Amino acid sequence: MFQKVHFKLTLLFTGITSFILIVMSFCYIYLSENNLSSNQFLSFQRDMNTVLTNLEQQTIITHEWLSKIESNGNYSIFILDNGTEFLYQNKEHNTLKSKLFHNVIEYYNAHHKEEENISALTAYHKEYEYQDTSITMQSYFVCSAVIPKQSGSLEVTILYSLKNLEKQIIQQRIVFIFINLVCISILFIFAYYFTKVLLKPIEKSQKKQAEFIASASHELRTPLAVLLSSLNACRKANQEEQENFFHIMEGEGKRMSNLIQDMLTLANADNRTWKIQCVDTELDTLILDTYEAFWPIAKEKNRRLSVSLPDYSVPNCYCDIERIKQVLAILLNNAISYTHEKGEINLQLSMSDKYFEIFVSDNGIGIPDSDKNKIFQRFYRADSSRNKKNHFGLGLCIAAEIIHAHQGSITVSDNPGGGSRFQICLKRKY
Ligand code: ADP
Repeated sequence: MFQKVHFKLTLLFTGITSFILIVMSFCYIYLSENNLSSNQFLSFQRDMNTVLTNLEQQTIITHEWLSKIESNGNYSIFILDNGTEFLYQNKEHNTLKSKLFHNVIEYYNAHHKEEENISALTAYHKEYEYQDTSITMQSYFVCSAVIPKQSGSLEVTILYSLKNLEKQIIQQRIVFIFINLVCISILFIFAYYFTKVLLKPIEKSQKKQAEFIASASHELRTPLAVLLSSLNACRKANQEEQENFFHIMEGEGKRMSNLIQDMLTLANADNRTWKIQCVDTELDTLILDTYEAFWPIAKEKNRRLSVSLPDYSVPNCYCDIERIKQVLAILLNNAISYTHEKGEINLQLSMSDKYFEIFVSDNGIGIPDSDKNKIFQRFYRADSSRNKKNHFGLGLCIAAEIIHAHQGSITVSDNPGGGSRFQICLKRKY
């Protein structure tokens, strides 16, 4: 499923950015081509001014001069001297070219001549673009001019082929298409990795959720199976046996209820629907209360619970009293469960410059280094504790959620005297 989403997102990302890129490129090409062509036209107009001024000033027009102008500017020049083709054309121009010039003159007479309202005594010229659709199939800049002379007038037509300009434009377009293709490929690769990174946390969280549901169903299956089989057996049992089955069912029901409560706490933590309600708290009093609550439980299980508090006055800690009590209960329950009879458990409070530090240490079975990180994961239980019925592997995970919500930290290390030592750090406000 994620692969499909990944591919679709990559295509979407590449598609949108490529579309923007292509639109931008089109705009740029359009402006740049317009610019190129108007610059060429301006330069053509400038050249024509110079050529026509020279023609105007010369009394004798030589073939050499015309050839030089033609080859220097890549022009074709056609001159009618009082309506007769200038000899120069007969020598250099072939009939096709001559036909082309006549077409241009016809076009000029039909489209532009009326626009001019100039007396035959003054020189004038007009530059425009002409598209030849019958002979060369090319576009030209054309300059049509009339130059009055003593013996009459010269009608001059100068053509400048736009073949080079079009070639330049096509080359520019090819370069742009190539650049766009390269950019789109790079974008695709970038989008592929970008969306992969983007989807990773979602994929991870979905995997975690699937694992959570699988583990939860697995944990719920056992008490449910016991409940159902006890119910079945209850039907055939005598009153005394029934009492026993009711007791078993009650126990399994409680177990299920505890598990569901734990799962709800974690689900709420995931959805951020529970909030910690912090108040200024006397942490030493809170620790002492917890110690007093757990001392009888430890005694009943034949464990020795002790408490160590600083002998100086402890400033208030800004925390959620009930949640911190819940964390301490989880740690003390674990310490009692994973310590042998006559084992020793210690609850300690101390302070550093920045933190309140709470330690819960025991001299029990300890936690192997390879398990130290894993025990905070959901449903993780070290092998030795798998057979413990009321331990689902959710306690430390809940404890970590609560402490992280306080922006604190919870870590585990080996107790110097054997067993394990849990350390909670809560930020000092005062
Ligand atoms: P559980 O309900 O199984 O105790 P926890 O999340 O509280 O779940 O603990 C996870 C695992 O960490 C336990 O199954 C156990 O293997 C290990 N553990 C926790 N506390 C202790 C301890 N004080 N001593 C040894 N092992 C512990």
